Amino acid sequence: MHELSLAVEIVGLLERHAHELQRITRLTLDIGTLSCVDEQALRTALQAALIGTLADGAEVVVNIIEALALCLDCGQTFQPPDRIEPCPHCGAFRKRWLSGEDFRLRSVEGTPA
Ligand SMILES: [Zn+2]
Repeated sequence: MHELSLAVEIVGLLERHAHELQRITRLTLDIGTLSCVDEQALRTALQAALIGTLADGAEVVVNIIEALALCLDCGQTFQPPDRIEPCPHCGAFRKRWLSGEDFRLRSVEGTPA
């Protein structure tokens, strides 16, 4: 149930907007495919966590960020289906993640206070 603690964390971030927004009507989240966050579980957790907050009933928009890796041997980028997949160009395993590990609150929209 780590989606529940993420939901609580998001609510904490949203509360910081309380001085500028009367109500939050939409929030956008980036979820990387490597972040181990289950979108559906997070949506369910958020639905419960947002009740009674300034974002109660807000629309939750989720951007799924595909994993992108840079091969440290041949320098090409590729989109591995999982963390252990080797480079399809040269077969090397050494890589740096360029994206896909993200989990962040990208934006918040609402009614100005
Ligand atoms: Zn390579």
